This record gives sequence, C-alpha cells and structure tokens, in this order.
Amino acid sequence: MFLLKSIPKVDKFVQHKAFSAMSAKLITKISKDIIQKLRDDILEEKATSVDENLLIEEVLKKYKEITSPSLQKVINATGVIVHTNLGRSLISPESFDRVKDIVTSYNNLEYDLEKGQRGERYSHISNTLCQLLDCEDVLIVNNNASAVFLVLNTFAKNKEVVVSRGELVEIGGSFRVPDVMASSGAILKEIGTTNKTHLKDYENACNENSAILMKVHKSNYSIEGFSSEVSHEEIVNVATKNNLIDYYDMGSGHMIDLPYNLNQTEPSVKEIMKVNPSLVSFSGDKLLGSVQAGIIVGKKKYIDKLKKNQLLRMLRVDKLTLAILEDNIISLLLDKKENIPTLNMLFTPITTLKSRASEVENKIQNICTCNIIETQTVIGGGTTPNKKIPTIALSIEFKNYKPSKIEKLFREKKVIGRIENDKFLLDFRSIQDSEIESITKIISEICNG
Ligand SMILES: *Cc1c(COP(=O)(O)O)cnc(C)c1O
Repeated sequence: MFLLKSIPKVDKFVQHKAFSAMSAKLITKISKDIIQKLRDDILEEKATSVDENLLIEEVLKKYKEITSPSLQKVINATGVIVHTNLGRSLISPESFDRVKDIVTSYNNLEYDLEKGQRGERYSHISNTLCQLLDCEDVLIVNNNASAVFLVLNTFAKNKEVVVSRGELVEIGGSFRVPDVMASSGAILKEIGTTNKTHLKDYENACNENSAILMKVHKSNYSIEGFSSEVSHEEIVNVATKNNLIDYYDMGSGHMIDLPYNLNQTEPSVKEIMKVNPSLVSFSGDKLLGSVQAGIIVGKKKYIDKLKKNQLLRMLRVDKLTLAILEDNIISLLLDKKENIPTLNMLFTPITTLKSRASEVENKIQNICTCNIIETQTVIGGGTTPNKKIPTIALSIEFKNYKPSKIEKLFREKKVIGRIENDKFLLDFRSIQDSEIESITKIISEICNG
C-alpha cells in the first residue's frame, strides 16, 4: 500500500502555485473530492499510479468548468428566428441599456410616486399596452402557459370549458391543452371533430355548467382540405349571448402586420381586439419579440378577477421583465420596430441578406467551397404553422467532410447551423449584422484548422 502513502495531503496540495490566483475555498473543496476519488480507485485497484501534475490538471479543469457560466452566447445560423432552444426572441442592446439604470437601482415597481404609497406592479405596463391595443386592461404573468392556467383556474374551476377537437394541441415542451386544463381544475368539453367544427357545436355545448368558450391557436400544425372552424368573432358572439366568457389563447401574439402575406392567416392582436373579446392571451417572447412573459388582455372586470386569484403571486414577473417589456411596447407604440430584433430579422429584405452573405463569401472562398443559396426558412416557436419565408444561406464544404461533421465543428465554436439537402448551411435570416465579423473569423478558423 505504498501507493496510498504517496497520495498528496490536501492541505499541502492546495498550496501549489498553480492555484495561487484562485479561490482557496473552492480549490480545497474540489481537491478533497478528487483526492478522495483517487484513494478509492487505488483501493479498488482501478488506479495504479499517483501523478501530482495530473491531479493538478484535473482540479484546474473542474474549477474552470464550475466557474464558467453554463448559459452562454451562441450564433443562431439556423434561420429560425423564434428558436425556443436558443432563447426565442432577442433583446436589443439598446433596450437593455435603457433598462439597466432602472433594474440596478431601487425603483417604483410597487410604489405610487404621486400618492407616496403602495402602488401596483402591473400598472406600469397597462397604460402603454392599452394604448397600443385599445383594450380595457392587461395583466402580465410568467409566460403564456401561466396565462392559460390562471384564466382557466380563475373562471372555470369545476366548470366546463368548450374547445374544438381541432384545437386540442400539444406544443413543444409538454404543453398539452387537455392536460393544462385538467391541472387547472377545469373540465374539458370537446366539440366538433378534428377537421370540422361548426357554430352550432358551440351553441349546443352551452349549458348551466359552462364557463368559457375557448379558442386555441394551432401553433405548430394546420388542417388543410375538408375542414372548417368557427371565427373568433362568432365565438365571442355566442359567448355574449349565453353570458359566458370567451377566451382566445393566441399563442404568439404580434402587434404589427407581418410581411410575406402572413397576416392573411395570422391576424395581429389589434385585429383580434376589434371584436371586443372577454380575454385574450399570448407570449411575450414569440413574434411580439420581447421577454418571456404571458400577456393577458381584455375586459377590466375579468382582469380584476384574475388579479384576485392567489395563484397570481406564484406567476408574477420580476422588474427586469416588466422594464424590458415596457421599453419594447413603447418602441412598438412609436413604430420603431428596428428596436425589436425579432421583427428586424423578419423584415430584413432578401437583398440585404444577400449582401451580408456575399461579404462573408468574398473573405472565405479561397479556403473552402461556399455557395450562396436562395432557400426558405420557418419563423419557428409555433408562430406560423406550415408557413415558410424566403431566406439566403451560405453552404460550407471542405476536406470532403460530411455535413454532420462540419455541423459539429461549427457547434463546438457555438455557431448553430442547419443541414439541408445534404449541405451544411449558415442561414443569414437569423444571423445578426453585428455577428458577421465573428462568423467570418470562425469559418476561417474551422476551414484552416
Ligand atoms: C407557445 C404557446 C403557448 C405557451 O406559451 P409560453 O409563452 O411558451 O408559455 C400556449 N399556447 C399556445 C397556443 C402557444 O402557441
């Protein structure tokens, strides 16, 4: 057991100069674990030598791993603008700068500066948002899933919520309408069939135990062919006639008319508000282009009831969320969509994408095979099901590597691209103008090395 004797003592080991610039407390903790593991391995005859230099390396590696943020910046070259896996919508650096002073200071989050007394967390956003949407009141919660849950729990606990069978959707990340409904305490009343639901289905479903007529955006699929659904306006009318609440889970709510004729199938929140609905909810970080949030808009008497639900305390949002959301809503009110990266990307003309791609191509064409490709992409995030928009991509090939190998090399440098028709592509629809220089550098590094 002479090997056991050669294991360094922790007290002495951590004095090594390799650790001098580091937190002694953390180095000691990591060293203890690693040295203990070595002892166990020797006893179990899994280790047959003790090398202090290797131990030091191991400790340093672990130290770096623990102290570097796991959440980090990537370049989204997939072309998918609202990419849920990559953080959905971006916040512009300008918006971030504007709110920095507010969130790094005390602020009037729940304080009425005029009256000098307790104020309301949600009041800041409601004035601006009600201006933008012509609604009576708004409420902001953690995300749209929370919004759905809160609405159902507040108005339909042990009561029936009428939904078309064509809208009982599952959205990525295990959000399933029937399951959310069950956990909120509401009773699902399915009507119609998968492909067709008629006005009379809604009318016939109303009874003394009904609470809500609900419409759900299909988000990530569409029904084509022999199909029909009832318009939101007609649902609002049936609800009003029967003294019920109508509620539209819009999924992604956008505030301005979308390009590429997307508005024909995806009306804006403003459009939806014209029919005077009871309640509508949507995400803050899909096509609205702001932070993660659930935005509930509609009639004041219903919003007031939502505010009284104890659950709201668990779903409430932080000052950081409210500050950025307010900044973005003001930008929208002032028609400054250039402040909202998601909209910026969506509206960038093909000619601009092409010139950015050429700029990169010119600098790298002598080190790899690259081609500018006119193709299509999706917006993503369950926003515009089955719709594609035009885009420009740069295909990258070198050393006869398979596209999957190239994809991995780029991913290791935190550039996420996509493979299409057996080619690795960098799609310029979702690459920021400010990233062109670093992406050029990364391509050179990869193709040269
Ligand atoms: C995306 C989506 C949700 C969930 O919204 P989050 O903000 O991600 O919680 C709910 N309903 C529909 C129809 C959606 O598209």
